[in-house]
Amino acid sequence: ATPTAIMVGSGLGAKRGILFKNATAIETSARIDTVVMDKTGTLTKGEPEVTDVVVGHIDRDRLLALAGAVERESEHPLAQAVVRHVDATDVPRLRATGFRNVTGIGALAEVDGHQVAIGNRRLMESEGIAVGDLGARRDEIASGGRTAVFVAVDGIVAGVIGMADAVRETSAAAITALHEAGIRVVMLTGDNQATAERIAEELGIDTVIAEVLPEDKARHVQRLQGEGRVVAMVGDGVNDSPSLVQADVGIAVGAGTDVAIEAADVVLMRSDPLDVPVALTIGRGTLRKMR
Ligand code: ADP
Ligand code: MG
Repeated sequence: ATPTAIMVGSGLGAKRGILFKNATAIETSARIDTVVMDKTGTLTKGEPEVTDVVVGHIDRDRLLALAGAVERESEHPLAQAVVRHVDATDVPRLRATGFRNVTGIGALAEVDGHQVAIGNRRLMESEGIAVGDLGARRDEIASGGRTAVFVAVDGIVAGVIGMADAVRETSAAAITALHEAGIRVVMLTGDNQATAERIAEELGIDTVIAEVLPEDKARHVQRLQGEGRVVAMVGDGVNDSPSLVQADVGIAVGAGTDVAIEAADVVLMRSDPLDVPVALTIGRGTLRKMR
């Protein structure tokens, strides 16, 4: 594109809080045929709230006290939701020691003389903990589009905590606009299959890749590129940054982490999913002007 077209394009973007970091970002945006979107914090607000607390063999307050102590040590959005919930009740505050975060699956620590693990099914498997009857309760919560995590105490699943993360108001409209522009949309998330599918259905997304470990997100983008796709990746998290770099155009949500913003070619200052189709339209417009 001509320097003038690029200037006009970046000006149009800037007005809407869409920051193209360089000319290549605008030009490549014109050629995108596939948009891969992270779920949590991108299509959803990334501010989960506890909706369900299911207990097995222990008291509810005890479960919350143990889970809260572990999650207080974690920076994960789900951990923060658990802590907010625990702090809103008068459950005693316990201290965790030996905290260990396992990226993309959960966290472990010792609390009040007990080994506490909180996370997804994969964490329970890797710790050799059978999920038992509570597995079905987790599935129920997940099929409603909520995220559910297991809490295990001393190697036995003691409860399930369900959390809801509201979708952003404009997520569905953004997907519709992308489809109308002939662009394929794929959801890529670390969250579980049932939760992801439920939200994808609500938003009109037909391809879902769920339960993806952070290190594998970039590989999925690369695979699509190997199929001849020109891919834009939209994400907010630290775990999205390798895939933002791998994509032909990396688009970071402005409200996201500094690491993601750093890794991206385009930043959406308003964190509005509708700015994804707008950014691609600006790219197409810029290219048209050079002909
Ligand atoms: P996403 O790609 O949706 O942002 P992550 O890769 O960060 O998700 O996490 C994937 C899954 O790992 C979560 O849905 C949750 O089940 C589990 N998980 C990770 N960290 C924690 C934690 N601190 N507490 C509970 N569950 C966790
Ligand atoms: Mg995210």
